[in-house]
Amino acid sequence: MDFSSIFDSIITPEMRMFGVAVVIFIGILYLISIIWVIRDSYLRGSNPVIWGVISLVPFLGAFAYSMLRPPMLLSDRDEQDLDFTLKQRELMKYGECGKCGYPVEREYLMCPRCGTQLKNECSVCGHALNPDWTVCPFCCTPVKR
Ligand SMILES: [Zn+2]
Ligand SMILES: [Zn+2]
Repeated sequence: MDFSSIFDSIITPEMRMFGVAVVIFIGILYLISIIWVIRDSYLRGSNPVIWGVISLVPFLGAFAYSMLRPPMLLSDRDEQDLDFTLKQRELMKYGECGKCGYPVEREYLMCPRCGTQLKNECSVCGHALNPDWTVCPFCCTPVKR
């Protein structure tokens, strides 16, 4: 009995098929890990070419990338910048005149450009009140409608 016949008697065709399936499965995982690294590094603003080459090292490359990748997605970063700009804008001004679009501040009762009534004035303390407020938040006077 030579080695190959021992091999054949131990390894059944089912086992061989299973082995092939495992190899294909690992191969697919390997390909997915490369695609993931390239895509993810691109989304995070890293260099996808460099990381793509590193990820060619089976699994260790993708593992190294998952340890070293930038923590934030580029789109998240953009969103945060946008959020910040919006908040700054909100701080700078309260809104715009509904009629002419002129920037108006929180305490304005009237648009300085076109004279549109923007807010009601509290009859007691004189603060500017949003039209939908039912009570003055500054002096607790109910708003007469
Ligand atoms: Zn106006
Ligand atoms: Zn008031």
